[in-house]
Amino acid sequence: MGRAARFFIWTAMVLVFLCAVLAGALYVMYRLAAPDVPEVTATFGGAQLTGAGYTWKTPVLGAWFERTDETAPELSHLGVIGTAVPEVVVTGADTARTQVYKDGEQVASLDGSGALALTENGDYTLRITAQISQKRQTGGHGSVVFEASFTLRAAPQITLEPRTARQGDVVAVRVEGILDSSVPAIETELCGAHFAKTETGYVAFLGVHYNRAGGDWPVTVTCGGTVQELTVTVTGREFERADETVPDSLLSSAAASNAALRQFNDAMYGVYYLYDSELHFTGAWSWPVATGGVTVPYGAYVYENGSDSATRHTGVDISVSIGTPVTAPAAGRVVYAGWLERTGWTLVIEHGAGIKSYLFHLGELTCAKGDTVAKGAQVGVSGITGYSAKPHVHFEVRVGNQSADPALLVDGTSAAVRAAR
Ligand SMILES: [Zn+2]
Repeated sequence: MGRAARFFIWTAMVLVFLCAVLAGALYVMYRLAAPDVPEVTATFGGAQLTGAGYTWKTPVLGAWFERTDETAPELSHLGVIGTAVPEVVVTGADTARTQVYKDGEQVASLDGSGALALTENGDYTLRITAQISQKRQTGGHGSVVFEASFTLRAAPQITLEPRTARQGDVVAVRVEGILDSSVPAIETELCGAHFAKTETGYVAFLGVHYNRAGGDWPVTVTCGGTVQELTVTVTGREFERADETVPDSLLSSAAASNAALRQFNDAMYGVYYLYDSELHFTGAWSWPVATGGVTVPYGAYVYENGSDSATRHTGVDISVSIGTPVTAPAAGRVVYAGWLERTGWTLVIEHGAGIKSYLFHLGELTCAKGDTVAKGAQVGVSGITGYSAKPHVHFEVRVGNQSADPALLVDGTSAAVRAAR
């Protein structure tokens, strides 16, 4: 063997040895570069997700090599989720994306943390992919993945406002988040009530008549399989005194007769309990006449000609000169338009869910039964008809046969105004 050959063999052996050392060192470094996957937590509808999987890249020897570690997520079984808007909370990641699937189709997704809106009860799966960009100490980066299954059985949300109601208030009961075709029903001795459809669910109103006893009144709302017992606490209120002078000619007129009262009652019993199953109005109401002051407020004790016994006032009297345009206080449907001896030219407008405006003593009607009217649309002109001593418009609000204070709907403080949207 020549010297050149020996040199070549020796050099090759050294190179092989160096390569082996280098490979060994790299292998050790690769093994030592264990994935330092950060702790990422995820909750869905308040339930903690477990069994996260990840895809994690760890740099080896600067960024010359990258080690990739992968584990598949295990499916978390979250059981029954009771809200149609479950909250997703992801911590420890730079970005997160939640995807929700039903029958293999993606039905909802969300970036970051927040509430997801689901529109149907049933069985779902979800996947949360959390990304961690390259800023760990080791330079590691990648994604953490959670997978879960759950059953949505969302009960509707039932709210009642105000829980403490003064005499003359209108209480609003709302049902929202109904994920099937259930129509809610309401039962209470406080007031005959019905639900009407709104854009987001259903609303029913309870009129708290001026003579309703203070204390707790139970209210039962049912919707599908949900039954909720609620309570309205009625509190008293001061009502004004009004002294009215009624001429003898009016006292002895047909308008004051028992026959006129019977005729009025017969006509009104027909309309008290009818209701539209859709809400016609949104927002605050308006006075039916643009001018004129309130002479006798709601619930007032009215003493006629110095009598020592009072009658109670079920509406609001607005003093206004004859011939003034009378307008609809809120959008609705005319359910009564006609002459009654007691109340003269009389209008009743249904606004939905059984809440109605009653306008009495008009000089003339400019609408007919069955007409749909917008808020502010002219429905008549003022007058002094029926049992009326002075030109005025009597404006009354009732839910079923229970009266309420119209002023609270006009000034917008009523819960009914907030609920009608
Ligand atoms: Zn009146």
